[in-house]
Amino acid sequence: MSTFKGKSVLVLGGSRGIGAAIVRRFAADGATVTFTYAGSQDAAQQLATETGSTAVFTDSANRDAVISRVRDSGPLDILVVNAGIAIFGDALDQDPDAIDRLFQINIQAPYHASVEAARQMPEGGRIIVIGSVNGDRMPVPGMASYAVSKSALQGLARGLARDFGPRGITINVVQPGPVDTDANPENGPMRDLLHSFMAIKRHGRPEEVAGMVAWLAGPEAGFVTGAMHTIDGAFGA
Ligand code: NDP
Repeated sequence: MSTFKGKSVLVLGGSRGIGAAIVRRFAADGATVTFTYAGSQDAAQQLATETGSTAVFTDSANRDAVISRVRDSGPLDILVVNAGIAIFGDALDQDPDAIDRLFQINIQAPYHASVEAARQMPEGGRIIVIGSVNGDRMPVPGMASYAVSKSALQGLARGLARDFGPRGITINVVQPGPVDTDANPENGPMRDLLHSFMAIKRHGRPEEVAGMVAWLAGPEAGFVTGAMHTIDGAFGA
């Protein structure tokens, strides 16, 4: 496949899970791919070798490092912001610094990376942020900070779509439901509860999310912007 031949792609948070599937998909489709990692250096190096992509260390909790990484990547055709974390537990017991770090990774990094990418992005550029169906629906206690962060991405896409639309740049949010990754393994303790909310009673596959990202990044999606794209087995329905 050569759908993305000649295209420059940066994936923030690409070493594992959904991000790694996105890296694999763009590399297989001919793009020149750079991705960031923070904690998983070995996995990142393996993925880079496997796909012919470039792995670079950038902690998404460090705003200025994120901005520098995007700026120094030069004109990007496609930016994907995937890095995200969740914190579980009673809101009354949680460390405020840990919650603020979640907001830095899940909200501030997507905002600043998107704005910085748009400075140099050519017409037809694509910005895709990985949100969550929890931006629409949070059916369990203990994850309010995560829900806040994923809802915030909806405003990010709606607002920046207005700023960048006149230049032919689109920005969209992909909102997965449960997807089988280290963060949410299909065989984990939440399996039956999560599946009870769904019409298709299985976890999604990272490759399924990558397929939606690839469509949004491709030539057929030039009129799609400021929108949320849910892929969740009807978790949120
Ligand atoms: P994983 O925990 O499996 O992988 C997370 C990825 O994000 C890793 O590559 C990790 O890199 C990177 N990352 C995390 N923190 C940072 C950081 N501070 N700086 C740079 N990179 C970072 O998660 P998933 O693949 O499951 O999730 C990916 C995205 O999809 C997240 O935004 C998540 O919220 C969202 N999502 C996931 C769902 C699921 O059920 N799995 C459902 C809905 C949304 P490293 O290990 O190198 O630090």
